[in-house]
Order: sequence, then C-alpha cells, then structure tokens
Amino acid sequence: MVGQRAAEGRKGGRAGMRLVGGTALAHGEAVRLDGVSIAFTLKGGKRYVAVEGIDLAVMPGEFVAVVGPTGSGKSTLLNAAAGLLKPASGSVTVFSSALSGLNARAGYLFQADALMPWKTALDNVAVALEPQGVPRAEALARARDWLAKVGLATFTDRYPHMLSGGQRKRVALAQMLIRDPEILLMDEPFGPLDAQTRQIMGNLLLDLWAANRKAVMFVTHDLEEAIALADRVVVLSAGPAAKIVGEFKVDLARPRDISEIRLEPQFHALYKEIWSCLRVEVSRAYAGGPA
Ligand code: ADP
Ligand code: MG
Repeated sequence: MVGQRAAEGRKGGRAGMRLVGGTALAHGEAVRLDGVSIAFTLKGGKRYVAVEGIDLAVMPGEFVAVVGPTGSGKSTLLNAAAGLLKPASGSVTVFSSALSGLNARAGYLFQADALMPWKTALDNVAVALEPQGVPRAEALARARDWLAKVGLATFTDRYPHMLSGGQRKRVALAQMLIRDPEILLMDEPFGPLDAQTRQIMGNLLLDLWAANRKAVMFVTHDLEEAIALADRVVVLSAGPAAKIVGEFKVDLARPRDISEIRLEPQFHALYKEIWSCLRVEVSRAYAGGPA
C-alpha cells in the first residue's frame, strides 16, 4: 500500500526508499492503482507477468514521474491508468470511481506522433473537440489560441510533414490540453527529440502545467528529465513482475528552468540518491531480469 510505504519511510523504510510525503495518506486521488498486476499471454499460451502488486496514487495537481529500465513495465502501468489494459488483479480508481473502459478524464501523449497527416496543425488540434460536440467555428478559435500558447501561432496552416519533430510535439501537446483533461498521461513524450528540444519542451510543459495544474503521470527512462519535471519520482524494478522499489519526493523550488536546475547541488544530491536505487534495476534488466 502507498500508505504503508509512507509509514515504512518514517521508520527508515527499506534501503533506497524514502518518505512519499503527506499526499500518500490523503484521499481524493486523481488516479490510484491498488495491487495492480498485469500479465500478457504469449504465443503458446504462456503467461508473462509484466508488473505485480503495484500501489501508486497521483493526487490532483501532482506531477509524478515513473522511471525504470527499458522493458520494466512503465508503458504497461500507464496503459492501465488509461484503461487500455485491464489488470489481471488489483484495481484502478479514477477520482474515487472504479475505472471501467477508457479513462475519459485523462488526456494522453505518447512517444509516437498521433497527428493526422492529412490535416493542418489547426485542424489536428480542433478535431480533439469534436467528440464534445463543440461547434466548428468555436473549435477552430480555441485551437488557434492553443497553438499560440505552444508557440505555433504562425504555423496553423502547416501539415505535420511541414513541421519539425519539436513542432509536431507542440501540436500534440495542444491537442491533448485543449480538451482540458483532469489527468495527463504521458509516455516518454519527448523521447524522439534532440536534447535541446527536449529541454525546451519540458519547460513548455511545466509552464502550461503551472498555469492549470493537472494530475500528471509521466513515464520516462531518463532520470534527469524525471527529477527536473516531477514532484515525486517512482522507481520501477526490472521485470518480470516489476514492482515499485523506491519513491522520492523532489522538493526543488518551482518555477523551474529544467536546463538550469540540473546544475544545482540539490539536483545532484537527489540524482545520486535515486540513481543508486535505479542503477541496480538497470543492471538487472541488462542481465536479463531479476535473479
Ligand atoms: P517499458 O515501457 O518500461 O519499456 P513495457 O511496459 O512496454 O516496458 O513492457 C513491460 C514488459 O511487458 C516487457 O517485457 C514487454 O516485452 C512486455 N510486454 C508489453 N506488452 C506486451 C504484450 N502485448 N504481449 C506480451 N508482452 C508484452
Ligand atoms: Mg515504454
């Protein structure tokens, strides 16, 4: 249990485990995973347990980053929160209601572009309002506003192939945020971008988030990115049957400039502490899973 883990933290807890903070015991979580295990059936009928017994809660307005080695089950967990995968056991709760089907209160941003190549940037953003039945003129006006907020005011009429990778991500960000979802689920969204563009996108995300704080579950393999962005970093062990092996509160002041914050001693100390937990799992993942 998350609460149990917080209690462990107060007692000193397990090695590499730190107090989650007051949020862990509070109610009204935006997303809550309780004892979630997810298994896949492989060819030939064998079952592969990807994650096991995961307890994780994200409070409204809280930015939680989930890190772990590649193949540990980060995307699997995010997909469970999105309602795209049903747990074999355990439960997913969204604002105190059991999740069944897709998580309608969440917006998603994945690594791969989900833009429609035959639509302009403006139409790609406006189309996100279609399911809500927003009249076209209003949808276009709001899409224009959102493209301005992500720095693309003069790129509204471009098709995705006429935009850089970073610009396409900006369109995707606007497409997600225009619906004003209460929960943001992001799976390595800036993964394919170059290092500088990643930092610029991280700062843009933080600016937009600060203006209207949503609950964020942000999955990344990049520990620096996780610390720079999040209020809390959760470490997932190497699979199979990956578990949460560490939770760390990031008490760096906001607003943050993520290219500058990396230079601060407090950042380094935190990085060292979390990496000592994560590195064990990264080596286990390379060695082919837990012993
Ligand atoms: P991560 O996002 O941390 O890199 P994933 O969540 O994508 O990891 O995958 C976790 C584990 O589950 C991996 O070992 C992966 O091979 C396995 N896995 C993911 N999806 C499926 C699937 N549909 N069928 C079988 N195994 C899967
Ligand atoms: Mg993944």
